[in-house]
Amino acid sequence: MATVKRQRSCIACGRQADKVALLRIVRDPSGAVAFDATGRAPGRGAYVCSEECFAAACKRKKLDRALRTTLEGDVYERIAAEVAAAARTAR
Ligand SMILES: [Zn+2]
Repeated sequence: MATVKRQRSCIACGRQADKVALLRIVRDPSGAVAFDATGRAPGRGAYVCSEECFAAACKRKKLDRALRTTLEGDVYERIAAEVAAAARTAR
């Protein structure tokens, strides 16, 4: 049986990896942006490979563009904390 490859690229550095190895940020149908720990939340998703890339993507507005929204400072800080925690437990 063939393995289905679900490759995604990090929006900050462009590195490709299996989607389960990346950190997913999602904008849900209501417009709220959150870190998606399950990788399966409905909505428009964007992937980063690390905490550093999340910060870089935010700084360069790549996350805003990928999600077609504008991240507020408090939302950014909340997601950054979740991404940092997830990045630590994943390794
Ligand atoms: Zn990256």
